[in-house]
Amino acid sequence: MKKLNHDVKLLLKRLDTLAYNLWWSWNPPAQEIFREFSPLTWEVTNHNPIAVRKQFSETELRARLGDKDFLKRLLDVLDAFDKYMQHEPQILAERTGKKQTNPVAYFCAEFGIHECLPFYSGGLGVLAGDHVKSASDLGLPLIGVGLFYRQGYFQQHIDPNSGQHESYPTTDPANIPVELVTDESGKPLICSVTIGNSVVHFQGWRINVGRCRIYLLDTHVPENEEHFRGLTALAYGGDINTRIRQEIVLGIGGVRLLRAMGINPSVYHMNEGHAAFLTLELMREQMLKGIPKVKAKQIVRDQCIFTTHTPVPAGHDRFPADLIEFTLRPFADWMKISTKELMRCGQTYAMEDKGEFVMTVLGLKFSKYANGVSATHGKISRLMWSELYPGVKPTKIPIGHITNGVHIPSWSMQKSWEFWERHNSHKWKDHLNDQKFWKHVTNPKVVSDEELWALRYELRRELIEFIREKAQNQHAFGGASGEEALYRLLSFDTLTIGFARRFAPYKRAFLLFSDIVKAQEIFDDPHRPIQIVFAGKAHPRDNEGKDFLRHVMNISRQHPFYGKVIIIENYDMNVARHMIAGCDVWLNTPRRPLEASGTSGQKITINGGLHLSILDGWWSEAYDGKNGWAIGEKVKNNWPPDEVDKRDAESLYQLLSNEVVPLFYQRDKNGVPRKWIEKIRNSMRSIIPVYNTHRMVMEYTKKYYFPKK
Ligand SMILES: *Cc1c(COP(=O)(O)O)cnc(C)c1O
Repeated sequence: MKKLNHDVKLLLKRLDTLAYNLWWSWNPPAQEIFREFSPLTWEVTNHNPIAVRKQFSETELRARLGDKDFLKRLLDVLDAFDKYMQHEPQILAERTGKKQTNPVAYFCAEFGIHECLPFYSGGLGVLAGDHVKSASDLGLPLIGVGLFYRQGYFQQHIDPNSGQHESYPTTDPANIPVELVTDESGKPLICSVTIGNSVVHFQGWRINVGRCRIYLLDTHVPENEEHFRGLTALAYGGDINTRIRQEIVLGIGGVRLLRAMGINPSVYHMNEGHAAFLTLELMREQMLKGIPKVKAKQIVRDQCIFTTHTPVPAGHDRFPADLIEFTLRPFADWMKISTKELMRCGQTYAMEDKGEFVMTVLGLKFSKYANGVSATHGKISRLMWSELYPGVKPTKIPIGHITNGVHIPSWSMQKSWEFWERHNSHKWKDHLNDQKFWKHVTNPKVVSDEELWALRYELRRELIEFIREKAQNQHAFGGASGEEALYRLLSFDTLTIGFARRFAPYKRAFLLFSDIVKAQEIFDDPHRPIQIVFAGKAHPRDNEGKDFLRHVMNISRQHPFYGKVIIIENYDMNVARHMIAGCDVWLNTPRRPLEASGTSGQKITINGGLHLSILDGWWSEAYDGKNGWAIGEKVKNNWPPDEVDKRDAESLYQLLSNEVVPLFYQRDKNGVPRKWIEKIRNSMRSIIPVYNTHRMVMEYTKKYYFPKK
């Protein structure tokens, strides 16, 4: 009895350690353990193990361990976790010749790690989360720094008549897998930054992501005046006054928190311009040591790396001179520079007239390396910022590119995960970068057409049932509700298309319905039907995006779209995971060249989906004629946008009617679409081992973090 008591206590401790390490978020067997403890809590809290943990007692655990099968699986998960944490991959030793190296600090305004942590709005955050997960898997010492948004971005509710509504529920840190950063005496570690005439205090929250950590800064502390406590409450909320203050906390405060914890990174990676103020803090530190300005700047540049993420001009933060002057005056004083000199840190020569301070310019000026996130985006960025490099030939401008990827284990639905485990045990996760490996495992001799087709059916069903269940709670879902929704919404045998992303205008979500007669023809085919699932948030101030949502709501109530055009509300990582797994085809229709990379289309491949997209971002590199479909043609410079939209829509209808739909419904006598599955194999072979964050993080490591001298 004594021994069992001891074991139960020890197990509880190990379970808690597991719950507070997001390793579980890319290991389905670990999630399964938490789900089994309390299926209801797991569901209603968006898969939050801390909430589950609070729902069971030591007494219950002891009783449940009587189930030998459960006990075995629990121990297997805990052992796998311990093994992962103890394993020491050698990539750094190989690159630097040293066993110990100061870490990379990776600054980003948002981190999307799992749906139970609301610290992201979309693609940038999810990419950052995937970056940290891969760094952990690869054994790269990397520390994330971001902001702790108690109210997240926003929760989206869709009303069939009036469209999108937003709500901002507050998260209690005690109920999610984050831990407060404390000093030696166990008290919260409080740091501060000066903004204008005020001192703003903040604390840090730690998220364990495998072997890596992310620290999120939070101004909700009693030391602050009331109005500063809410400064970090919302992601991308408020106006530029809030924005610049958040960015001062992130950039300058982030460096200070690291120092207060005794962390001295060897590299600072600014993932997008929001964090670029960190360069000023690094400058100040050097100058405090008495190092002259020019030399200090050189030292800072040698430590910094900057990644830009958008060719859309409005996507780059710009602040007016008086706001910079007001908020950063103390800083300029410390650095003994005039406001004009400070402004010049964020200006190209041409912009000086406009009096704007651009965060991207600050990042570029203070970095040793800079990059865009796909080959096309690298090229666009060199053109876009050429003013910063007068006299340099466009091809010689020092902005390179590293194409984005996704963390594949995180985007494998449980069924897909089990599928790959079944076929090659755990090996697939150790070979994510290995093209030969994926060529081998997608061979028909290893994985049969029948097995792949069975997987597609399982995943499509899972998505449709997920939607039908949601429809029970969402009034008039695509016009259907209650029992009708439960039995009639979408069909399990139908070609299912997915479209999910921010409803930003350049994403052209309207394209499929731009010629309603043609769209009707395609949807109305009784023998070869299609259906489409939409999801996405429009920024609270984006009226065009909101209008589009209303427009699709209207369409979804009309024949022949009724029951076949569905919008799922509140796009988040959970909705995304169901969609990228369940859809047969992933549609993307950005206006060229505005999709810097895009990543959602990369997530589908491990689950057997196919990509149908404009040749922009990552797809213009990955498309090889056999692994998906390319919409549209090369755009001539002199075509007006309307003309481009028309041609792209025409191409989309042609592809759907003549290629995509016929291929899906072309079955052999056993009902298997052989040619469709051949395309899935081509897609898996060519995309999985390249468009993933393991390859991406290795590229950052080799080219920028730790280049071989
Ligand atoms: C992957 C993902 C995105 C980014 O998708 P894009 O293709 O880059 O638009 C946005 N939001 C969520 C929730 C995601 O999972």
